[in-house]
Amino acid sequence: MRNGKELLSVIIPCYNEAVGIQATIDTITKVLTEGGLQYELIFVSDGSRDETFSIIAAAARKDPRIKGVSFCRNFGKEAAMLAGLQYAQGDCAVVIDSDLQHPPECILEMYRLYQQGYDIVEGVKEERQKEGLLHRAFANVFYAIFDSALGMDVKNASDFKLISRRVIDVLRKMPERERFFRGLTFWTGFKMTTVTYTVQPRYAGVTKWSFTKLVKYAVQNIISFSTIPLYFITWIGVFMLVLGVFFAIRALRLYFTGLAAGGITTVVVLILISSGLILIALSIIGRYIASIYNEIKARPQYLVDQTVGIEEEVARQASQAAF
Ligand code: UDP
Ligand code: MG
Repeated sequence: MRNGKELLSVIIPCYNEAVGIQATIDTITKVLTEGGLQYELIFVSDGSRDETFSIIAAAARKDPRIKGVSFCRNFGKEAAMLAGLQYAQGDCAVVIDSDLQHPPECILEMYRLYQQGYDIVEGVKEERQKEGLLHRAFANVFYAIFDSALGMDVKNASDFKLISRRVIDVLRKMPERERFFRGLTFWTGFKMTTVTYTVQPRYAGVTKWSFTKLVKYAVQNIISFSTIPLYFITWIGVFMLVLGVFFAIRALRLYFTGLAAGGITTVVVLILISSGLILIALSIIGRYIASIYNEIKARPQYLVDQTVGIEEEVARQASQAAF
């Protein structure tokens, strides 16, 4: 039974966040201390090229509850979150952004629900931030595919969530390299609930996502998570076949009624459409093959350059786990 004494690991991925990281350290520390929680903060600097890690290291030397991990280059937020889970010693863990866009007060509410027996407490965004038209249209397609693949509402889901030790262990042991944290926790099927929060404006610095990076992220996540796009191809193929039969009948009718000729436009249109569809289908299959290629190579998912405030044995095991 949970008794309120369980250790909470807070995992904070950060990439070039030097301008705001001190405020984040102070705010989270204050909230958790006032909430009376037993906790550790694990900052994972994802190959930051600014002062992010030295600020974390300085804080870690003053407070034993603060720990830092630094990658030797940028491996991406998914890798940073995974590393955090490998280093976490807690009975449960929360992943939270380092720019205070996820309100730290919500952690207390998440922990309270965890105490009631939930294994996953999902942070659900109340309002989406103002985003461009293109961005929104693209996001909607991405979410539609995910919703049908998983029966899961990913639209307002985020990486801000609490997971219990058994979920942490499942995620740590999964060998897959292309990960989608948001979907994987849901996939485990453990008892889940939600906490609603309002996305705050970034405290400092700028977003680390560009539109192309986002498109890449979305495509990779869909490919790594589901085979739905392959079914799409089948349905498009069926559609093309029906269309083909229709035009074949029409062409034959024209031929037998002696009105053949003049069908060039139809032919050109059909060739253009079908070759376009074939190329799309090939590229989708190609993405899957690339994905298999990445998994087969089995390269480590991150490489740690240095750590601070972490016991040697824990550090050794966690860096081994990246392989
Ligand atoms: N982040 C990271 N590695 C990256 C990109 C981002 O660890 O390659 C971290 C970043 O420091 C932040 C969180 O992931 O704590 C979310 O990133 P950001 O705020 O740039 O994304 P947004 O909130 O705009 O979606
Ligand atoms: Mg942010």
